[in-house]
Amino acid sequence: MKVRGSEGALSLDAVDMKIDSVRIDGRDSRFKFDKKKGRLRIPAVPKKESTVTITYTKQVADDVIVGLYKSRYGKDHMLVTDLEPAKARTVFPCKDEPLYKAVFKLTVTTDRGISVISNTLSRSEEVTEDGRVKFEFDPTPRMSTYLFFLGVGSFEERSIASGKTRLTVASRPGQSHKGEFILETSAAVLKGYEKYFGIGYPLKKLHLIALPEYHTGAMENWGAITSRESFVLLDENSSAADQRTGAGVMAHEIAHQWFGDLVTMKWWDDLWLNESFASFMDPKMIEKLHPEWDPWRDFLRFGTFRSLNADALSTTHPIQAKVKSVEQVEGIFDSISYGKGAAVLRMLESYVGEEAFRRGVAAYLRRFEYSNARGEDLWEALGKTSGLPVSRVARAWITKAGFPVVTVRTSNGKVKFSQSRFRLNGEETDGSWPIPLNLQVDGKPRTMLLDRKSMSVSARKPLEVVVNRRRTGFYSVLHDKEGYDQIARRFATLHSHDRAGIINDLYLFLQAGKIEPELYFRFVSLTARLADLLATELVTDQLANLRAIADEAGIVRESYTEFYPAQIQRIGLFRKKGEDDSISTVRETLAEQLARTNMYYARKLARGFAAYQEVEPDIRAAVALSYAVTRGEAAFDPLLKLVMDASNELERAKVYPALTSFDDPSLVEKTLELGISGKVSRSDSRFIILGAASNPRARATLWKWLVKRYDRLHDIYGGSFQFYLFLDRAIPRCGIGHESEVRRFISGKRFKEGETTFRRTFELLDTNSGLRQRLLAS
Ligand SMILES: [Zn+2]
Repeated sequence: MKVRGSEGALSLDAVDMKIDSVRIDGRDSRFKFDKKKGRLRIPAVPKKESTVTITYTKQVADDVIVGLYKSRYGKDHMLVTDLEPAKARTVFPCKDEPLYKAVFKLTVTTDRGISVISNTLSRSEEVTEDGRVKFEFDPTPRMSTYLFFLGVGSFEERSIASGKTRLTVASRPGQSHKGEFILETSAAVLKGYEKYFGIGYPLKKLHLIALPEYHTGAMENWGAITSRESFVLLDENSSAADQRTGAGVMAHEIAHQWFGDLVTMKWWDDLWLNESFASFMDPKMIEKLHPEWDPWRDFLRFGTFRSLNADALSTTHPIQAKVKSVEQVEGIFDSISYGKGAAVLRMLESYVGEEAFRRGVAAYLRRFEYSNARGEDLWEALGKTSGLPVSRVARAWITKAGFPVVTVRTSNGKVKFSQSRFRLNGEETDGSWPIPLNLQVDGKPRTMLLDRKSMSVSARKPLEVVVNRRRTGFYSVLHDKEGYDQIARRFATLHSHDRAGIINDLYLFLQAGKIEPELYFRFVSLTARLADLLATELVTDQLANLRAIADEAGIVRESYTEFYPAQIQRIGLFRKKGEDDSISTVRETLAEQLARTNMYYARKLARGFAAYQEVEPDIRAAVALSYAVTRGEAAFDPLLKLVMDASNELERAKVYPALTSFDDPSLVEKTLELGISGKVSRSDSRFIILGAASNPRARATLWKWLVKRYDRLHDIYGGSFQFYLFLDRAIPRCGIGHESEVRRFISGKRFKEGETTFRRTFELLDTNSGLRQRLLAS
């Protein structure tokens, strides 16, 4: 590496490797390697620019699934990297912080017949004297270490051109033809961003690499995006929902090529800026390509609404989290950094206007390209293009944990709004945000800044004022009884997004014990009668969660027994010719729950199992589930065979809900074991564990298994996003009835980087247990 020794000694991060020698400008140098701390100190680096050559050996561990690891398929594997936030130091000695940008010039020598992928194009490939092949890559632009990528293996590629850029899907052999849809979509997305940002994509190529084993979703390595197979390899066996998800993920990662890669945060406390922005751009871009998909529907369902839930916990954190050490970074790749951050950006966009927002973003990227920036720099740019106090509003939202509930009261031609902080544990606390209130007053949209405790507006029809119109704001809205009666009367006439917002708020209030359960279920009943795709999906998610934690509660059973059949009768159990893709995505969600809860539909769906490969992709998971539910133990082996014969992740993912749906604990445990056995991709544990967590009769089994296998799971997935998912998505369900045991067990297993997740897990478990009690009592 070329360095300038202004600090005197050079201190580098280097972990899990053996340092053989250090030379400075060709001469041997002293060095001190503290293996435990992962620090390599080279004492005497001259002030002038010099070349430091470090010879080191790195052994690739067998178990791991982060850093430099073996992504396996069958008996083969590819060697790949996944380095965010701080694993580059386990691959090469470096200054492993985002602020230190460098130009990488990579040369790789491998056996013949193997290909190598990195951030840039390989400029030459020559055969060495001993018959191997040496790949030399173009220098990268100045970039942060965590964006480096190296992949070595038998990659199969398929390419198209998008303007001056070559776009390539790379996969294991025999799979790349399934990348056609993602290639086409990504080409259009890339062009869309070039136009939006006003800055061309700076590299000659962009790889989209499908990894057979991958711990997270996808990663934005510059010029070499990596992903789970299920987001890239889509074919006629993929459902409309699979395509939507894949397209959305790529739109997110491609946005990072500018926002994150070209301009990078100075330090990890601004990680959210990367993630929120990419999450916000995804629906914006997809809406241009597929307006019929209404991508804001998924943005609300998976982003805004989920993060409201997470942000209502007292264990939440400000969007701009305090990150003192790099270990703490892992805990903040969560719905606050992604979902809440993105929702706040959307709120700011609706406050400053779309064009002023775009111009501000473009100016910010231009100013800081190939360098680093902070959130403040973006607010400043947005303030300049809009002339509004963006910094003040943004600062309040990103530095304060939690969000406000706006309480609405009406009297004598006036609507009064007041705000306080909302918490799931029911505690009301003071707290005030500058809220850009997005209203609909007497039929007309209107924005006003609520930047004190309360304020009023006059309206001819106060009871019809819509608050948080289209749900562009990050706050919940609480009405009084008269307000809800009035909303119930005109519920069918509201905009779908407004309706979903009301349902989501009621669900929050239900969990907090702020309303009687009957009020929430009254609105579920109203939704059952409506054709509203977002509201249907949302209620389906909520009822599935309520069933997972309180299946015995009569009020829950009655509700889903009414809701699911009413909705499936509306859209039909089977796909109709020429049907809109959006309907098919709702059917996928709905049919799965019907299979779990309704014998009549389960029998009907199970008939499809005989010709499983011909079943429409959107109901495959439901057909497999129905087969398991109706057949019991006899279904296990045929389902297992489906998994073992499946050619890719998506196909397997559709069978795991079935394999974890059994009443018999030994069968569920067999499936859980399969996930970590090495016989299937280690990426699959995500589907398996979350599948088991959706089965109310598997709660005890799953908890016992997690205790038994905790260390093993940590060995494989520790330090990965997947591991946190097991904690805060599975334990709040399966830990019910074992609350103090959960605390005791986990407290003995704590580790620094998991602190935030542990606390969140406990609180979510308490929330679920409390809700369960209230539902059983009502
Ligand atoms: Zn991202």
